[in-house]
Amino acid sequence: MLKIEDMHVYYGAIHAVKGVSFEVGEGEIVALIGANGAGKSTILKTVSGLMHPRSGSIHFCDQDITHMEAYKLLRTGLAHVPEGRRIFQQMTVQENLEMGAYIKKDVSQKDLETVFTYFPRLKERRKQIAGTLSGGEQQRVAIARAVAKNPKILLCDEPTGALDYNTGKQVLRILQDMSRKKGATVVIVTHNSAIAPIADRVIRMHDGRVSSIEVNEHPMDIEELEW
Ligand code: ATP
Repeated sequence: MLKIEDMHVYYGAIHAVKGVSFEVGEGEIVALIGANGAGKSTILKTVSGLMHPRSGSIHFCDQDITHMEAYKLLRTGLAHVPEGRRIFQQMTVQENLEMGAYIKKDVSQKDLETVFTYFPRLKERRKQIAGTLSGGEQQRVAIARAVAKNPKILLCDEPTGALDYNTGKQVLRILQDMSRKKGATVVIVTHNSAIAPIADRVIRMHDGRVSSIEVNEHPMDIEELEW
């Protein structure tokens, strides 16, 4: 459903992504793993249209999206959860989620209730100002906002970054449920190799290049994973 071919991305003179090619199958969980500076976030930003490659191509659901603008890509069913907690700090939890669902034509209470089934903690806190939530809760708001769009593909940049062990596991549980129960495709960018066993496909990067791609025939359940 996502196919990247020989993609090169630059920041001015800095060659951040150097001829990357890989495919992601529908409903898969893919872990994109590499050290700081390997080019992982740049790949997500490029797939979501926030940057454009100097050469190479990106296809999503058989459509060439190489030069498509980010706002149009959102309508194709692609959601990006950037690194950090980019949520609306002054709005309530519910208002943040409504912003996520904004691009859908009919935002109903039912959509929100569906999202809340994945995030019961956020349901309890729906009226709370998002900026006053704990770090882990804010991370969940960021993911919940993307989930509210009911995306075909969810691109998550360091979803467990800055979270404690148990909260990190809960967030991964939600992402695994998105894939297994809703059939969504999930790409997780991380520097934490320990996450690899839960992925269907593990793409390792080094210095702007893909160094290996492995397919896991039997990905682990989050509950079995320890790091
Ligand atoms: P991290 O795990 O630290 O987030 P990453 O694998 O996601 O790293 P990127 O953020 O994609 O790596 O960065 C890839 C390369 O591009 C790095 O050398 C980085 O310094 C460079 N880079 C990233 N953002 C910019 C920018 N805005 N301007 C210039 N260079 C940048």
